[in-house]
Amino acid sequence: MFNLILFGPPGSGKGTQSEKLVDKYGLVHLSTGNLLREEIKSETPLGLEAKKFIDKGQLVPDEVVIGMVDSYFDKHKDARGFLFDGFPRTVAQAEALDKLLELKKNGIAAVLALEVGEEELIARLLNRGKTSGRSDDTDEAVIRKRFSVYSQETSPVAEHYRKQDKFHSIKGEGSVDAIFDALSSAIDDRLNVNS
Ligand code: AMP
Repeated sequence: MFNLILFGPPGSGKGTQSEKLVDKYGLVHLSTGNLLREEIKSETPLGLEAKKFIDKGQLVPDEVVIGMVDSYFDKHKDARGFLFDGFPRTVAQAEALDKLLELKKNGIAAVLALEVGEEELIARLLNRGKTSGRSDDTDEAVIRKRFSVYSQETSPVAEHYRKQDKFHSIKGEGSVDAIFDALSSAIDDRLNVNS
């Protein structure tokens, strides 16, 4: 298996780049944000609980997200690899992911982090909010809350993977294609190391 994490703050382009990367590398896309939004749409108990956190710009509790990832693995037993998008978002989630993959005698090949300045991120999110129908993208106060949660709870995940020598920063500003090329060459380097 070849597993990748696409890391970066809200609005850094993880969703856009993930769609292209899963196509190119034949990976299964695992976006916890998308899975949570599906639960909300279907009005499941998990979705109704998660919505309270998402609407405030807070993280959904670790055990809920980890349980969801675990059952997604069960549904994709034949995957040749996963592209994790928006997960892990806390060190506890990263540790749980390492353990779940270890059970499959597997691990993370690389973490690719998209680097984008904060003012550009806010402009992108407010713009996305006009069309995405995402309530957490329309209110600037909620957006700012998501950034503060990112710097307090999610940034330490970078250190978790730096210690494992798996962390790579990629410039996330510029054209979608140029960013995709930079991501692809970082992945190809890693594939060569692994093969
Ligand atoms: P995203 O689509 O990745 O930006 O996620 C939207 C929202 O869903 C986040 O602001 C969180 O409230 C929630 N969420 C998504 N992924 C996670 C995660 N791994 N851990 C906790 N909350 C999450």
